[in-house]
Amino acid sequence: MKFDKASFAPRSKACVLGFGRSGAACANLLAEAGFEVLLSELKPLAPDAGSKAGLLPSVRLESGGHGPEVLKCSFVVKSPGIFPASEIIKKIRKAGIPIFSELEVSLSFCPPCRVLAVTGTNGKTTTATLLHLVMEKAAVGGGNAWLAGNVGKPLALLVKDIRAGDSIVLEVSSYQLEDSSFFAPDVSCLLNVTPDHIDHHGGMDNYLAAKRKVFSGQAKNAWCVFNAQDEECRKMALACPSKALWFSSAEGTDGVNARVAGGKLRFSFGKVSCDILPPKLPGAHNLENAMCAGLMALAAGAAPVAVADAFAAFKGVEHRIEEAGVVKGVRCINDSKATNVDSTLIALRALRGEGRKIWLILGGQDKGLPYAPLAPLVKECVKAVLLIGEASDKIESGLAGAAAMERCGTMENALSFCLKNAEAGDILLLSPACASFDQFRDFEHRGWHFKALVKAAGS
Ligand code: ADP
Repeated sequence: MKFDKASFAPRSKACVLGFGRSGAACANLLAEAGFEVLLSELKPLAPDAGSKAGLLPSVRLESGGHGPEVLKCSFVVKSPGIFPASEIIKKIRKAGIPIFSELEVSLSFCPPCRVLAVTGTNGKTTTATLLHLVMEKAAVGGGNAWLAGNVGKPLALLVKDIRAGDSIVLEVSSYQLEDSSFFAPDVSCLLNVTPDHIDHHGGMDNYLAAKRKVFSGQAKNAWCVFNAQDEECRKMALACPSKALWFSSAEGTDGVNARVAGGKLRFSFGKVSCDILPPKLPGAHNLENAMCAGLMALAAGAAPVAVADAFAAFKGVEHRIEEAGVVKGVRCINDSKATNVDSTLIALRALRGEGRKIWLILGGQDKGLPYAPLAPLVKECVKAVLLIGEASDKIESGLAGAAAMERCGTMENALSFCLKNAEAGDILLLSPACASFDQFRDFEHRGWHFKALVKAAGS
């Protein structure tokens, strides 16, 4: 059943499950549309939580558990973080109450516009942010460009400002897709697919089924961009109803619509044929993100010059291989978003050069996966591993013999140890391969802390 506000009687009861930023925004949107809204949250909340979040007085907020009123609602809007196998979801399904995603509900309130949806296991935020910049510069059809979803503001908050003909770039996670059955973006993409969030979805098949929804509802003349080097993408593309476009960062690849040629990115499909300089960001993964964003924008009607301008202006996204400053000739890089081994591998691959120049800060809260896959690259390009946080023991044994290791405990000690011992031209890389919660609020807090230390050391 597709969400359509007109199919519910005026003043019907609506329930939004989950008091996050998007849940609160969606509750307000429904209340303004005339529904009687209950916002229900499992965790206890402070008495002023609703007013602090700007909740309209007409929205009833219940917290510390989902009460019986939830099952008296005409429909439920599920926030993306809520576990699909949770008791409350089972009860709602058993009662036959329709469940909608926040994304589809918010889209149903938008006037007709161009929707561009970015998904994949890795690179979503970078690609969506770059695509938004391109669409802003391109102003296709004279409209504005908006960025919403996992990055930027919740779509529900933007609805009142969006005009017909605008372009909406959405970063959509598998969590948002799993409850979206009628999602039909004009342009979508699948950047890459590797196992992730398997616990939440209850298995790899369910994760793939959620990801498939980025294109499965698309019209025949819509577009979907795929990564030609990703095996899972190639398999999933077989079921794509829209027009597929392909990118590959492997040198010399033919038969794709975006590839690397002579230091530029070559785009070709239909009447589009252009060579564009990529953004100045390290790593093959960033070439892939740029090719994907470029193809999506060009398919949506952006002029190549807008793509080129945006690529030239794009500085990357905070905490993702971000230049944090140079201290005593040492280039300091903040890759705090690397909360797992795969991401740290990507950073090392992007920064490897001649010899062992990298001082690598590793550690934090362990995620239960082995560190040994880092060993070959650590051996090749890391001068010393600087260990911080809870996972120090496990990393030390996992990488034994790969490089010198120094127990630093804290980020402060790691930075001062590096600056005392490094030579000009070395790189200090915070790419911790661990969660941050043992010492920081989240990866952003960890990255800001690192940048503040680098700034203080350089002044
Ligand atoms: P997401 O929003 O999907 O988490 P981000 O753009 O925030 O993605 O990037 C997070 C991390 O994912 C980066 O720091 C990098 O390690 C890795 N990454 C980014 N782009 C790609 C890509 N195209 N392929 C593989 N890994 C990537």
